[in-house]
Amino acid sequence: MTSAAKVYLVGAGPGDPDLITLKAIKALQQAEVVLVDDLVNPALLAHCPQARIVPVGKRGGCKSTPQHFINRMLVALAEQGQVVVRLKGGDPFVFGRGGEEMLALRAANIPYEIIPGMTSGLSACASMEVPATHRSYNHGVTLITGHTQDGEPLPWRALVESHTTLVIYMGMQHLPDISRGLIAAGMSPDMPCMVVENGTRDNQRAAISSLQAMPYQAHQQGLKSPAIIVVGEVVKLARTSQQEQDWQQNLQRWASLADAA
Ligand code: SAH
Repeated sequence: MTSAAKVYLVGAGPGDPDLITLKAIKALQQAEVVLVDDLVNPALLAHCPQARIVPVGKRGGCKSTPQHFINRMLVALAEQGQVVVRLKGGDPFVFGRGGEEMLALRAANIPYEIIPGMTSGLSACASMEVPATHRSYNHGVTLITGHTQDGEPLPWRALVESHTTLVIYMGMQHLPDISRGLIAAGMSPDMPCMVVENGTRDNQRAAISSLQAMPYQAHQQGLKSPAIIVVGEVVKLARTSQQEQDWQQNLQRWASLADAA
């Protein structure tokens, strides 16, 4: 291995290409090879025109590169002496399997560096002007996946009793179960709930409704992955006029598409 060889595990931020750190951009500028997830905005690759780009998408339900293969690829590229960036959506350590990759690098004695990113859950809240925490409403926020590896149910009662804002990743396939599970564990069916699809991207869409009505509302609007589900009183603070404007824009877009067809 040459002394330059190193792997950077880098967070690309939630989608808006301006929401990436300077440190991440500096790593991209040095990279010889970049392994990219498919949630990463391709516009970010403008920072590394010199690098070889390897897409290793891992979207639920789609064909993707197995994790052990990605781990091996990171190790092998570094052993060949390359400067490698592993570019991941959001933050590499929040549901990003960055932990697995770091352990593989550690085990192989490869020099690495973790460059955090803005996680999509908190960025989605911000984009809707929803503070994830607010002293008047709660004492914390819980980031949780809606899709457990072994299909185990989520700890509904503990989540309800935490009285925190729930920010749920990878939950769209299970939205009806999430709504039912929380209500059955004692959460008010009227608890404010929001779904943000493609948060911080140009094509961001969102829905706000009660916890009980959200599965229907999200279905009506055709909201799907990648999306964040937020449950908690703080959702009351969302700027819905923004949402209405987005809807107006979308309606106009659809109308022009229909005209063109
Ligand atoms: N490491 C990432 C999360 C990867 S898990 C992060 O920190 O953001 C993939 C899940 O992230 C998706 O299923 C979705 O729930 C969420 N996600 C990623 N980008 C998103 C975006 N722009 N808007 C809404 N949700 C997003």
